[in-house]
Amino acid sequence: MNRNSKGSIIRPDPLPESASRPVVTPLSPSVVYASDTPDALDDQYEGRVHGYTYSREGHPNADVVAKRLDAMEGVQGGWVTGSGMAAVTAALLGILKAGDHVIGGNQLYGRSLRMMKEDLPRLGIATSLADPGDVAAVAAHIRPETRMILVEVVSNPTLRVADIDGLAELCRERGILFAVDNTFTTPRAFRPFDHGADIVIHSITKLLAGHSDVMLGYVVAREPALNERLRVFSVTTGLTPSPFDCWLAERGMLSFDLRFDRAQSTAIALADHLSGLSGVKRVLYPTRDDHPDRTRGDALLKGQGCNMVSFELEGGRAAANAFTRAAEGLSFAPTLGDVGTTLSHPASSSHRALTAEERRELAISEGFFRVSVGLEDPEKLKEVFELAVSEAMSA
Ligand SMILES: *Cc1c(COP(=O)(O)O)cnc(C)c1O
Repeated sequence: MNRNSKGSIIRPDPLPESASRPVVTPLSPSVVYASDTPDALDDQYEGRVHGYTYSREGHPNADVVAKRLDAMEGVQGGWVTGSGMAAVTAALLGILKAGDHVIGGNQLYGRSLRMMKEDLPRLGIATSLADPGDVAAVAAHIRPETRMILVEVVSNPTLRVADIDGLAELCRERGILFAVDNTFTTPRAFRPFDHGADIVIHSITKLLAGHSDVMLGYVVAREPALNERLRVFSVTTGLTPSPFDCWLAERGMLSFDLRFDRAQSTAIALADHLSGLSGVKRVLYPTRDDHPDRTRGDALLKGQGCNMVSFELEGGRAAANAFTRAAEGLSFAPTLGDVGTTLSHPASSSHRALTAEERRELAISEGFFRVSVGLEDPEKLKEVFELAVSEAMSA
């Protein structure tokens, strides 16, 4: 019998009895979980039965999301964190120690780059950055104390494709952990564990939750002992997510496959359309014929791609600003993966802090845009872009 039903006044059993159960996962905001007896608590702590104690250590809504992602990535025991950056933090700080060296892709997500350049060195962890599309360039940075390589599959915002298979082989040969941030590609397009990854990271905030109303991350290691370190580190440092965010994310993930497929096919159609417009200098999509990494993109993504398209307008900043003003109905916002199409201008937002020379090296000009394609009617979206490009060119 439930202890509460014996007469606790302030906290009686919260749920009325029911022979049926809800179809939707209940939201479980409780921070603490009470045990019926001391023996039951012992059983729980000793791992004889599963139960929750204190929600920083785990709660049902997080576990539901983690299990979904585990199934998608083909792994077990993944851990949901309060943001994508919390997952990156767990993967780096939960495993590395002072004296270690880590190599990051040179086009990692902005905050991951910052962690490589500022935070890890401050803690005594040496870092290097290298082009993840060039295995020899990455190998040239390896030192005896190199412990991990962290890359993204498709880079932001120039959509270059990393040589995942080559890097996995390099890591295997040299005994280095291979961590892959799979946010852009998602397990629908790419499963890093099938390609030799040791650790997979996600920002659930983006496509997986998909509605720009949740911040969450996910981290998992293939090796159970390593995975346990990630879990303990996350619990200790409080990277735990909120139950409500997890509840919302689960709701978003129910439609993830459909949303991804739709956004991807629209992205491909939009890329084709943009490439035919006068005033558009170049269009970037990983599986287009004119993409520099086309062959690798095909081999890794096997016909899948992503919902991201980047393109460059003629006419520099003035034309870019005119385009943004004319692009009606598109959110001008530096995020991705929302149900609505969002437009970002890296030179003035995500890559603003870089010098002009650094931007030139990445081929991010004043006319460069990154589009996160959403779920709009593809024909309508093409019209909006076409009109905005023509207004930008006549401005
Ligand atoms: C957004 C993003 C992150 C960080 O995720 P947050 O949920 O914003 O903390 C990490 N990696 C990639 C590739 C991202 O796009």
